[in-house]
Amino acid sequence: MSAGGNKDPGSPPAIVNSNAHGTTAEFVVSNFLYQPESNTYTCPAGKTLKTTGTWHKKTRERDSYEFKKYRTPDCASCAVKHLCTGRANGGREIERSQYAEAVEKNGLNYKNNKDLYRKRQEINEHIFGTIKRQWGYNHTNLRGLAKVNGEMALIMTVYNMKRAINILGMEKLLAKLRTWMPDYGKATAPYTKQGILRLFDRSYFHRLPKAA
Ligand code: SF4
Repeated sequence: MSAGGNKDPGSPPAIVNSNAHGTTAEFVVSNFLYQPESNTYTCPAGKTLKTTGTWHKKTRERDSYEFKKYRTPDCASCAVKHLCTGRANGGREIERSQYAEAVEKNGLNYKNNKDLYRKRQEINEHIFGTIKRQWGYNHTNLRGLAKVNGEMALIMTVYNMKRAINILGMEKLLAKLRTWMPDYGKATAPYTKQGILRLFDRSYFHRLPKAA
């Protein structure tokens, strides 16, 4: 080593670990291939990692999930273990969460339908941009799926009304609503034609910031 701390010329290149576990880029978990038929992983060195089938629980700040661990005894004699894991005792461990299958399916959908996803982005993203950035609705006030669904339904109803006003204008929209023949069931009773017409007649919606 030179006085400046640089390595001598000719010494092997330093290993740059990509994470706190001592894993280099070639050995990150996405380079381990999951084999659904055998419920195993194949590591970049071609070894098979198996699970005992035990579910472990991980608790985070706001939620928790379960996962299984996958290991192989081959790590003990692996020539590239120092690139794969920083664990001095024991080998590499891969964790597979209870949601992994859904995450992988979603990843595959995205990979195979990039144009569709881009289209969806174009259609949907400005809606959330308007609601979150312009209106300042960046968190829900309620907790629990049913309550949050209700809260979101109200926000989206307001957005749709504002959007319809922006596109059609009040006069055209009211004219369309008067000839509208709703075919919704009882579940949407608050949104009946008369109820919606009354809502539009109130000045509240005219004062809201514009929907994109
Ligand atoms: S340390 Fe284990 S998991 Fe990593 S490459 Fe070697 S055998 Fe595979």
